Amino acid sequence: MASISLKKLNKTFGALTVVHDIDLEIADKEFIILVGPSGCGKSTTLRMIAGLEEISGGELIIGDDLMNDVPSKDRDIAMVFQNYALYPHMTVYKNMAFGLELRKAPKDEIDRKVQEAAKILDITHLLNRKPKALSGGQRQRVALGRAMVRNPEVFLLDEPLSNLDAKLRGTMRAEISKLHKRLNATFIYVTHDQVEAMTMADRIVVMKDGHIQQMDTPQNLYDRPINMFVAGFIGAPQ
Ligand code: ADP
Ligand code: MG
Repeated sequence: MASISLKKLNKTFGALTVVHDIDLEIADKEFIILVGPSGCGKSTTLRMIAGLEEISGGELIIGDDLMNDVPSKDRDIAMVFQNYALYPHMTVYKNMAFGLELRKAPKDEIDRKVQEAAKILDITHLLNRKPKALSGGQRQRVALGRAMVRNPEVFLLDEPLSNLDAKLRGTMRAEISKLHKRLNATFIYVTHDQVEAMTMADRIVVMKDGHIQQMDTPQNLYDRPINMFVAGFIGAPQ
């Protein structure tokens, strides 16, 4: 069970508070999208959930467990970044298998998982290539595949499509929505693309200056924004 609770979550860097008392209850298997201007604390929030950034105050609870001090490697979470972060010297197959190899999974199990993920993502024909021989969209599929083979309870995606052209973004939006339905995982997805937020999210969380301004379903946010900031972020084309 991967419900996620953030209770008065805070992050400070020195004297600077970049995430202020965030309260957020995310249901198991929900698709949450975080939006807000650059620098408002979206990535920092994801990184605290992933264990890549220490929590300065408050509580992070996943399922029934307090996670504040659990090391990143012991969290059942996979994160996909904007810049893919693939290993350049490894083939696509190896990029996807590597995390499982580190965990000493049996070879046949690794192979089964890599082949299965590659099939779903339509990259089977690319398994022997190196990342530099792939297009942006293909690289992003590999990054998703690398997260999928771990079969995590929680997927964190930080602007995963922002380096892709508009047409490919459309295709990948649909792919990621399909993936969410198929994977039985909770998704938290950061974007500044309004179409992504409105079409993919169960609920959208609008952040500004480290605070949550409003959170609701796309329809309710669109119909009843609480202030001009939210209205501007949700309603207007960007
Ligand atoms: P977003 O993802 O919404 O664009 P971030 O979470 O990356 O925003 O950053 C939020 C704020 O925290 C920004 O003001 C950023 O400069 C600051 N910040 C992020 N990481 C660090 C760090 N390691 N040290 C100091 N300040 C940081
Ligand atoms: Mg960011």
